[in-house]
Amino acid sequence: MTPTDTAPLPRPSREEAEDAIRTLLRWAGEDPAREGLLDTPGRVVRSYEEFFQGYAEDPSEILSRTFSEVDDYDEIVLLRDIRFESHCEHHMVPIIGVAHVAYLPGKRVVGISKLARVVEAFSRRLQIQERLTAQIANTINDVLQPHGVAVILEAGHQCMTTRGVHRPGVSMVTSRMLGVFRTNSDTRRELMAMLNRPSAATTHI
Ligand SMILES: [Zn+2]
Repeated sequence: MTPTDTAPLPRPSREEAEDAIRTLLRWAGEDPAREGLLDTPGRVVRSYEEFFQGYAEDPSEILSRTFSEVDDYDEIVLLRDIRFESHCEHHMVPIIGVAHVAYLPGKRVVGISKLARVVEAFSRRLQIQERLTAQIANTINDVLQPHGVAVILEAGHQCMTTRGVHRPGVSMVTSRMLGVFRTNSDTRRELMAMLNRPSAATTHI
């Protein structure tokens, strides 16, 4: 039997997950019975529920619930500087950055908070930045069927900054352009101009 033929393993119990944290504490050289660490496994497991709650969310569903029909809006919709927190699937340490999400509507527009929720639903999983970028763009493209989608992510990877090559301050930029953002350089230029404009919103915070 190949691995793909086997059913997924049952989800471990909370106790099993907490035991795994105790094992890692011992591996790090700690005593899990030390007073300061007694509640740590429980806290870590609860943190994991938050870090990885994206597995329980369906990003297509988030977008499909609320679209409305608009026939006459033909300008770029851009939501920029969406902060996101994800975890690298190679080291399970944080990837923290911002996402810029733009689309040129066809017939459907969606509340901008839904775009941020799509970013969040895919971020709260184990990821590599390239796939995260593609998943956000592809889902918006599939569900809203716009004339184009552009997703740009800029993030710092703690697996680069706190371990391994130790390169703090380095950020990685990934992008995925679909539809007119890929085929039409004027549209892409207009997007870049919008992205480079100083934000009115943040100057008032
Ligand atoms: Zn990594």
